[in-house]
Amino acid sequence: MQVCIHRGSKEIGGSCFEVVSDCGKRLVLDLGLPLDAEGNDKKYLPDIPGLDGSDDSLLAVLISHPHLDHFGLLGHISNNIPVIMGKDARNILIKAAPFLRGDWTVPALGLNFKSEIPFELGPFIITPYLIDHSGYDAYSILIEADGKRLFYSGDFRMHGRKAKLTEKLMAYPPEKIDVLLLEGSTLGRIENHESFPSETEIEEQLATVFTETTGLTLVHTSAQNIDRVVSIFRACKKTGKTLVIDLYTAVVLEATGNKNIPQSDWPEIALYIPEKQRIQIKQEQWFNLLTRHLKNRIFISSLQSISNKSVLLFRPIHMPDLDHANLLHNAVYIYSQWEGYWEKEENEYLRVWIEKQNIPKISIHTSGHASPAGLKRFAEALAPVRIVPIHTFMPEKYPELFETVEFHHDGDYWEV
Ligand SMILES: [Zn+2]
Repeated sequence: MQVCIHRGSKEIGGSCFEVVSDCGKRLVLDLGLPLDAEGNDKKYLPDIPGLDGSDDSLLAVLISHPHLDHFGLLGHISNNIPVIMGKDARNILIKAAPFLRGDWTVPALGLNFKSEIPFELGPFIITPYLIDHSGYDAYSILIEADGKRLFYSGDFRMHGRKAKLTEKLMAYPPEKIDVLLLEGSTLGRIENHESFPSETEIEEQLATVFTETTGLTLVHTSAQNIDRVVSIFRACKKTGKTLVIDLYTAVVLEATGNKNIPQSDWPEIALYIPEKQRIQIKQEQWFNLLTRHLKNRIFISSLQSISNKSVLLFRPIHMPDLDHANLLHNAVYIYSQWEGYWEKEENEYLRVWIEKQNIPKISIHTSGHASPAGLKRFAEALAPVRIVPIHTFMPEKYPELFETVEFHHDGDYWEV
């Protein structure tokens, strides 16, 4: 079995690698958009034979989890190629796509992962392991062929709400791993001895700010970061606040298919449709969708009267409504995503807006990725013969943490 990292040996984002069996059958794992991509252009598609559907040696594309830097280029490949991923992850992408700008079409065709249940695909035996990550329904993936075993960590952590999944994998690891393709997002971002707050600590920090805020609290996060939405919801419950969501968030939460995750019809939740979304609903005739989430709908006048008891899951789409309704008196803006996005040029309008409103910005966030110490624990538990860096800007830091590191360049084919 051979592997070629097409993108990711020295880079975070745009993750993609190919696995080739001795008989020439192939799998592609992840097909992500590079972090520095300008738009979702086909020019970013790695040069892999058969992505146009013309080569049946390419058996499938496997997507570890629904983050853009792992699936973003799927819209550019043939619909004839099966896309294998988590069922809930697929559903989230399908349901979210109409709300988002650009073409995020996700081929619906293909098997769904079932955690720890192996399946055969040509010469390959594939076993997915559900794992803790900020992306929902995320997997590590074991691939066996030709008597060799390759384990792809995917993106993972052990300080989120599903930490038990990673702990379980480490307690009962698959045996005899030849190569561990190990993500290293946090290497170089924090020191090797530093760690991240847990999602539970984030919940406590949020609750403290909610209690102290006398106006509307805005929390800016991705609705698809389900762990974070749960932390925000729990902090609301603790402090007697109502969580106000929009239709996009309601649809994403519903798409998880998980009844334990906050839903638009729960009593502590309100649905407010921002004006721009109201126009979108009318234009796209999403009336059935709206009807399904109507139970707790409120209008701007209600939001005005309960602003001091409310936490708005903020999206930039809300900005005009908040301006017009004077909702920002004594408001607080909590930024709850990676600080790197905040610094991006495309977010200049948001920075200007917050400054103009003269409301405080508070950052409350934790990483979706394991700390260096967490990566070390993971590698020690899986005890592979060799470790190959992927999804990192700092492959040169791996030998500080691991023995038997093997480096490969993007585009090189090598034996497992
Ligand atoms: Zn991710």
